[in-house]
Amino acid sequence: MESNTGFFCKLAAGAIFILLFIAGIVWGINVHSLFPALIFWAVALLFCLLLYAVGEILSTLTRLEYHALMSMQKSATEEEDVPIKDGWTCKLCGTVNPKYVAECKQCAASKFE
Ligand SMILES: [Zn+2]
Repeated sequence: MESNTGFFCKLAAGAIFILLFIAGIVWGINVHSLFPALIFWAVALLFCLLLYAVGEILSTLTRLEYHALMSMQKSATEEEDVPIKDGWTCKLCGTVNPKYVAECKQCAASKFE
């Protein structure tokens, strides 16, 4: 499961924009002028786009980190597979485990079952 930081950042960007948009309308009505409200909306839009971009970057980073982790784990098991010659094969899932482990590294089934 991916981290939700990026998603929440985007969600917050949307929520803040709606709030600022409403605040801009209220402000525009109070000041009886559309100009400050337009600037307010422009700033709100920029701020929320920035927050959204940060959220997008965060989720991309999380995805990259996840893939890096997965490929690291993969290469780790690939390296581990080389010295297993006199290991034992799990009866449940067929994974070849080193002889010094009592439980299957894949499904945690006991070696002596
Ligand atoms: Zn197993």
